[in-house]
Amino acid sequence: TSSLLQTGCQQKTSGSAIPSDPAIEENIQQWLKKMTLEEKIGQMCQITIDVVTDFEASQKNGFTLDKEKLDTVIGKYKVGSLLNVPLSIAQKKEKWAEAIKQIQELSMKEIGIPCIYGVDQIHGTTYTLDGTMFPQGINMAATFNRDLAKRSAEISAYETKACNIPWNFAPVVDLGRDPRWSRMWENYGEDSYVNTEMGKAAVAGFQGEDPNHIGKYNVAACMKHYMGYGVPISGKDRTPSSISRSDMREKHFAPFLAAVRNGALSVMVNSSVDNGMPFHANKELLTQWLKEDLNWDGLIVTDWADINNLCVRDHIAATKKEAIKIAINAGIDMSMVPYEVSFCDYLKELVDEGEVPMSRIDDAVARVLRLKYRLGLFDKPYWSVEEYSKFGSEEFAKVALQCAEESEVLVKNENNVLPLAKGKKILLTGPNANSMRCLNGGWSYSWQGHRADECAQAYNTIYESLCNKYGKENIIYEPGVTYAPYKNDNWWEENKPEISKAVAAAGRADVIVACVGENSYCETPGNLTDLNMSSNQQELVKALAKTGKPIVLILNQGRPRLIKDIEPLAKAIVNIMLPSNYGGDALANLLAGDSNFSGKMPFTYPKHINALATYDYKPCENIGQMGGNYNYDSVMDIQWPFGYGLSYTTYQYKNLKLDKTAFTADDELTFTVDITNTGKMAGKESVLLFSKDLVASSTPDNIRLRNFDKIALEPGETKTVTLKLKGSDMAFVGYDGKWILEKGDFKFKCGDQWIDAQCSQTKVWETPNK
Ligand code: BGC
Repeated sequence: TSSLLQTGCQQKTSGSAIPSDPAIEENIQQWLKKMTLEEKIGQMCQITIDVVTDFEASQKNGFTLDKEKLDTVIGKYKVGSLLNVPLSIAQKKEKWAEAIKQIQELSMKEIGIPCIYGVDQIHGTTYTLDGTMFPQGINMAATFNRDLAKRSAEISAYETKACNIPWNFAPVVDLGRDPRWSRMWENYGEDSYVNTEMGKAAVAGFQGEDPNHIGKYNVAACMKHYMGYGVPISGKDRTPSSISRSDMREKHFAPFLAAVRNGALSVMVNSSVDNGMPFHANKELLTQWLKEDLNWDGLIVTDWADINNLCVRDHIAATKKEAIKIAINAGIDMSMVPYEVSFCDYLKELVDEGEVPMSRIDDAVARVLRLKYRLGLFDKPYWSVEEYSKFGSEEFAKVALQCAEESEVLVKNENNVLPLAKGKKILLTGPNANSMRCLNGGWSYSWQGHRADECAQAYNTIYESLCNKYGKENIIYEPGVTYAPYKNDNWWEENKPEISKAVAAAGRADVIVACVGENSYCETPGNLTDLNMSSNQQELVKALAKTGKPIVLILNQGRPRLIKDIEPLAKAIVNIMLPSNYGGDALANLLAGDSNFSGKMPFTYPKHINALATYDYKPCENIGQMGGNYNYDSVMDIQWPFGYGLSYTTYQYKNLKLDKTAFTADDELTFTVDITNTGKMAGKESVLLFSKDLVASSTPDNIRLRNFDKIALEPGETKTVTLKLKGSDMAFVGYDGKWILEKGDFKFKCGDQWIDAQCSQTKVWETPNK
């Protein structure tokens, strides 16, 4: 179980968890004394250097640095950081390691300060060939397994460091609360607590034990995107949101707060605008909430070109120079892709004119240098790739397979059509049936994920995995619908469908496995105008249903495309989301019953376009309707609720107990519940504990997840699970922006069990954070 990482009840009152290291601080002061203003500003820049974008050439020649540009950015402008470019494509670890070694040698020679290279190794080694890819964040959330989140991050750190890359732009802890959003799959689902817990586990895995001395196999984490990125009003990426202060403080800030308290070393800012204020200009959120209230000495980096965007997109600055002034004064320490080196010139002018105080520059540079010291880059700017012999190992692959198995969610299994017995003839159909690109999604070997089929040949598509499991002779593959070849982010485009071919092939099959969903995409190119599943794919399923053969529907997609018309046509449905390279093997194991399902929905799967809501929304409903079902289901008419998932066995929950009937903010609440595997197959069960505040001074959330654990049970076995909360966990941020725990009645839910308790004393927090 993951009890070691269960820290729901152990939050400190405030402050960063990183003790300051006097030796590091002394070194920083020395640097600040001797650096020129130009050198300081250089440290605040993060530039992308061009790499060869011709795939074939780069596979042959590797990562080719643009030497001339490098000489300019490091030699002339003394730039302190570099990052991958979106067009870059996966390279062998040796190529990465060598390129970064060259960069470090140049940086040490020219500036005497090592460069910090950052990369988006979002779900494993995104940009490195032959490394270990893990399921995307949305899948990791579905595992409800903190240990897996931590272990997968540890492995990603190890393999990233093998490339000499010390800084990873992960984990992504935006709350994916809008199913239309094209980045919903990058983070840990819709719930604040799940994002908090999985984010914390990932930071621990990336950074290791001591954030002041990041080890040889670890990297610095970068929590992103600060914050509230997952609720754009339009549903489209990087478009404005309108988040209430209470929601911002209580839900969106929670993963960042917890990560900072657990030593997270850096944060990347949300690109968009909230209530008319771009996050990159928001001094209150950047400086006050993060740096001052938490006394956090980590680094704040912008997202891509976002200082420039304050002028050219957000129109809060008339000139680029003004945009720089606003952002740096708001608390930005490093500018990712300032676009023009004029950033350096403008910032120098601003300091000379007294528009940006020198103290702000020194603070930003200290944060950059502190991160470099914490990473040990001054002592050892690069390692030798031979020291990372476990890279891409069998040991790592097993973890990735386990993650995939625990993340695929069985949401329907009528008449136990699953598991599929061996010996049956299977028609495998749908555009996602034979594609590594679809299994992986974006941030896989390239930004848009479109190179995955070439780069992930060593792994199995669903088709290959089913052939291995059931024998090639038993698999009839007829896709019916296919995606168009890649050309400028046309991920949604499909070729002319050949549905009749699939229907004809169904005649020879006992069962149909239809793999539908989406092709890979990422960020703004993934924007959508219609959340319904593509009409071709729906037509395919409808036509196949007419054959009378049972349909097993596999949903392979980054967000819940609406399927209300085809859902009733399927006997079984598995929501595999984006399980990555081992997703096909995991699915074959699960479909065959060689492994059991244990994933649960990390988000609410909507049924209707006008009924999009998260499980914790504020209902206008009376609690009398609260039965075994979540009452938001009855209001919204959703497809599948948050936390839902079936398996091949059944679990009975009994005897939910709480060690007290009344509590205050400081009390520890200990819940116990007996869970029995009442079926015939061994399995794992995610045990979710919810609370419900019956009456509050602001309309309370419908229900809130407060803790979870995952246990394994043999058939017939019973385990007593203990879950702890602190009274203060039930506090909320009121309309006045203050944390408050109110006297009154609460209900707690675990499985189908409910128990009551009363909060006996109101507490209002005078500090901004609990
Ligand atoms: C994305 C970030 C990413 C950055 C660097 C941006 O477009 O929003 O998530 O870390 O690019 O690649």
